[in-house]
This record gives sequence, structure tokens and C-alpha cells, in this order.
Amino acid sequence: MSPQRTLSIIKPDGVAQGNVGDILKRFEEKEFQIKALKMLLLSPQQAAGFYAVHRERSFFPDLVRYMSSGTVVVVVLEAPEVVARLRELMGATDPKQAAEGTLRRLYATSIEKNVVHGSDSRESARKEIHYFFSDSELPE
Ligand code: ATP
Ligand code: MG
Repeated sequence: MSPQRTLSIIKPDGVAQGNVGDILKRFEEKEFQIKALKMLLLSPQQAAGFYAVHRERSFFPDLVRYMSSGTVVVVVLEAPEVVARLRELMGATDPKQAAEGTLRRLYATSIEKNVVHGSDSRESARKEIHYFFSDSELPE
């Protein structure tokens, strides 16, 4: 199977709680290769642009505030079927619904503060990777 890439974000709560190392380790244990990584403090505008598909939702203002409330780690991962496999490792959006052993079940504290983002399709992955990384920051 040919490798694909996806974008993950360790969200402000994941960074603040000191779970960056553990989350990166779990990516590597699954043999997701880390192809690019940076730590950023998103402006409200950057956070709103990233989650623009949700702009009509009632939770959008809170989501923008949360995603710009502290530093995040943005990571490009590569592996066969990594888009779906990352979503599986993350677990459901609401940690109460997330399966045992998933990152959200382990670390998330609410449906909003749910520790980690993963692109939901190959098309979103392509767009989201380029939202944060220029071509010169990405290996072939
Ligand atoms: P992500 O896109 O961050 O990987 P997701 O795909 O599981 O998460 P989405 O429906 O895309 O879920 O929602 C984006 C983010 O908005 C969620 O991860 C969460 O932080 C927040 N969110 C979603 N639904 C709610 C809600 N009902 N109340 C509060 N925040 C929400
Ligand atoms: Mg989503």
C-alpha cells in the first residue's frame, strides 16, 4: 500500500498537560513517520481559518478561543492508510464516546478540549498540511 500523509495537531490542552512526548511516542509506535513538526501559537484568525468549515456552528467562537489559547504542535505524519489510522488512534470527538486506549479517552477532558486533531480525508489532509507548511519545509 502506498504511503499517505495527514496533519495532526496536539491542541493547547495536550501541550499544557505535558502530553506532547507521549502522543509523539504513540505516533511512532504505530509506525507513523514524523515528516515535519513545529510548535506555534495560533492567532484567532489562523485558528478560525483552519476550522472554517465549522464557522456556522454554535461552538465555533469557543473553538477559536480554545485553539488560540496556548501553543500547539502541528505534525505531518506519513504511513499507509494514515488518515484513517490516525482518526482511529484519536478516538471519537467526545471523549465519553471514545474507545478504550485512544488518545482522547486517555487525555481529553471535554468534547471541546479533546487533545488532538487529525485530518478527516485525504483531501483535507492535503489542504491542512499546506495551511501550516510550505513546500520547502516538507520532504519529498
Ligand atoms: P478535529 O477536526 O479537531 O480532528 P473532529 O474531526 O473529531 O475533531 P469536528 O466535528 O471536526 O471533530 O470538530 C472540530 C473540533 O471542534 C472538535 O475536535 C472539538 O474541539 C470542537 N467541537 C466539536 N463539536 C463540539 C461541540 N458540540 N461542542 C464544543 N466543541 C466542539
Ligand atoms: Mg474535524
